[in-house]
Amino acid sequence: MKVKLILPSLTESKSVFWRPIKYSLFPPLGLATLASYLNESDEIDLQDQHVEKLEISDQPDLVIIQVYITNAKRAYSIAKQYRDRGVFVALGGLHVTSLPEEADKYADTIFIGPAEQTFPQFLEDFKRKETKKRYISTIGRTIQNQPPIRRDLIKREKYLVPNSIVISRGCPHHCNFCYKDAFFAGGKSFYTQRVDEILTEISRLEGKHLYFLDDHLLGNKKLASELFESMRGMNRVFQGAATVKSILEGDLIEKAAETGLRSLFVGFETFSPENLRQSNKRQNLKLDYERAAQRLHDLGIMINGSFVFGLDNDDKDVFKRTVDWGVENAITTATYHILTPYPGTRLYGQMKKEGRILTQDWDLYDTRHVVYKTKSLSSTELENGYRWAYKEFYKWSNILEASFSHDQFKHQMKHLFYTGGWKKFESLWNIIINVGGLKKMLPLLELLLSKVEYKNSYTQKAVIKHSAEGVKFENSKIELTA
Ligand code: SF4
Repeated sequence: MKVKLILPSLTESKSVFWRPIKYSLFPPLGLATLASYLNESDEIDLQDQHVEKLEISDQPDLVIIQVYITNAKRAYSIAKQYRDRGVFVALGGLHVTSLPEEADKYADTIFIGPAEQTFPQFLEDFKRKETKKRYISTIGRTIQNQPPIRRDLIKREKYLVPNSIVISRGCPHHCNFCYKDAFFAGGKSFYTQRVDEILTEISRLEGKHLYFLDDHLLGNKKLASELFESMRGMNRVFQGAATVKSILEGDLIEKAAETGLRSLFVGFETFSPENLRQSNKRQNLKLDYERAAQRLHDLGIMINGSFVFGLDNDDKDVFKRTVDWGVENAITTATYHILTPYPGTRLYGQMKKEGRILTQDWDLYDTRHVVYKTKSLSSTELENGYRWAYKEFYKWSNILEASFSHDQFKHQMKHLFYTGGWKKFESLWNIIINVGGLKKMLPLLELLLSKVEYKNSYTQKAVIKHSAEGVKFENSKIELTA
């Protein structure tokens, strides 16, 4: 059987904001995972339109397309072209799960929710020519005992970060602007692999660098702790994402740093308690963001801070406050978003009920446009403030100030080159991509992620402060320092 797996590029690829390097980071791991359920004898072609020209004049037996909100139009158009030629098309992904009625019109079959459990059944039905219109994932979700991901289908040389890996699905929290609850509705919304399986998968990845694409790498403390213990001595460097709370609690973050964690995506999102409550991001309430940033600095972990603008309690100063905080706290890179009520989320439901949704042009749901009626800021103020924040944070003067606020020279240089390299050399990246040189950049990335020996200032300060408050620490490292 001939099977075509397609990740269509996001609408941004046609916009002035398009940054080819941003979309040449990670291979389409989800599609490579589905491919693992196909037979070895099947002829499989996996195409990612972000990094290659899409070839759709072929005649496979089955086409599977992954749909995000801002590639939906493109996905539907590709689906239509194949279906017009009589090819069977299946669609899956976040947007399909959010709006199955919409996706139904463009597909022979759709997958709702994570597809690992339903895909094998679909394949059996497909062979018998008895496919259902929808395959809905509910009970029995797991990512344990899975066949090995078909990494051989990934064109590694086209990505800066080919060694991406996912060890969990979902996350233990329930922020109301997040897709997670909608995507995992009807079953478990946070589940993980076993440590032995993760280690096997890691051993398949050549080089030193790993990027954990999990929503929350530290979400299952026991698993994370065992994994980091087991990874000691593997001489890996890795990046991932975690919550502010998980950085402040216990000593998991130290274990991660000792094992090779060198940069972390952190969802700070907003400084306003009202905004946090509105977003049901209660896990961030009453947390000391500065302390979290300092703790990461002292462990030599670079920070990619995520921030959302446009929550109902934001005022005109929110942009400056947020940028200033990022620079003062030496955040390495900042990702700003305009609040976006994705269909299927609780936020979308609330706004729809209140008549605040302004458009259903999904191309505009890219976190760069205002698609809802704002409250305390006008939509122009919000879009202008968002653009200003990006420009301001990535000004050379601010990059230099943030870089040189670290104590150690090596940390300063790492910050400077990481941030500068990411945002200031777009044309160079374009040349590197065009000449097929991304693979050669990996050793440079690994160098930027090399270890900075950390001091104990965070732990000492924390102990003094908390001892005075009579707080007992669970963290043995901190007790030792005291
Ligand atoms: S912590 Fe992150 S992944 Fe989890 S629900 Fe909130 S936004 Fe989504």
